[in-house]
Amino acid sequence: MQLIHSGAEMRAWSRAARARGERIGFVPTMGHLHEGHLSLVRIAAQHAARIVVSIFVNPTQFAPGEDLDRYPRDEEADLAKCRAEGVDAVFLPPVDEMYPAGSQTFVIVEQLSQGLCGATRPTHFRGVATVVSLLFHLVEPDSAVFGEKDYQQLKVIQRLVRDQAFPVEIVPGPLVREPDGVAMSSRNAYLGVEEREQATVLHRSLFWARDQVAAGRPAGPDLAGEVRAHIEESPLADVDYVSLVDDDELTPVVAATHRPTRLAVAVHFGKTRLLDNVRLAPAGG
Ligand code: AMP
Repeated sequence: MQLIHSGAEMRAWSRAARARGERIGFVPTMGHLHEGHLSLVRIAAQHAARIVVSIFVNPTQFAPGEDLDRYPRDEEADLAKCRAEGVDAVFLPPVDEMYPAGSQTFVIVEQLSQGLCGATRPTHFRGVATVVSLLFHLVEPDSAVFGEKDYQQLKVIQRLVRDQAFPVEIVPGPLVREPDGVAMSSRNAYLGVEEREQATVLHRSLFWARDQVAAGRPAGPDLAGEVRAHIEESPLADVDYVSLVDDDELTPVVAATHRPTRLAVAVHFGKTRLLDNVRLAPAGG
């Protein structure tokens, strides 16, 4: 497994692979890898002969006061996991390789970045779109896998690729959960014991809504309101949003519908902000 730190070396590695006729699959991450990330690596392997994983804690997607400095890092363990999955190259650029002094260019996906997480993190998706654009220029992948855990991010990246004509196929990866149902996240490492227990309310209430809709109830604001009330019964849960949105455009659903929708939540447990989401659709839809 090749460890690559410079952008020029990364691009040369990819071009050499492509010259041999090998397709390149890419999984961008911020490290502290878990089964959710590794599931994306396995999906990437179904689409390409060579797999590149990047590990880069991207400063531009953190606002001042967020957890950039304490974001969990464990490079040794991450590399061991990548090796075990048969990853071909890990790209670990230092910050000044991605953002040389004087960097001032950002990529902005407008509307899709504004609702949901964008409402409280107004510069977050600008940072995500910028770093993914940079990574695509350096890795030059044929396909890249993004998790549905970060559903808004997936939609932003799909639009970025379409609007900017990146020759990259974006492959969604299903959300992977812990055995008790909590969505896997590097940030789960921050949770105290009680917070971790109460975090199960997120998937339990989302699954309840999913079952209601599968059984024939239309998805609408009242359903989202019931989910919110259920989450708020957990004393440690501090809701950022519980939003029912169009599955593609992420626009708010304002009237009951039988069309597929996405119910997405962001909830603080102590200092830790957790995300979860489910697709709502009638059975068979
Ligand atoms: P991160 O390291 O948090 O930036 O995540 C890197 C990639 O892994 C993103 O595409 C995430 O959506 C994806 N990911 C993170 N957690 C999960 C999960 N529990 N299930 C599926 N994909 C995930």
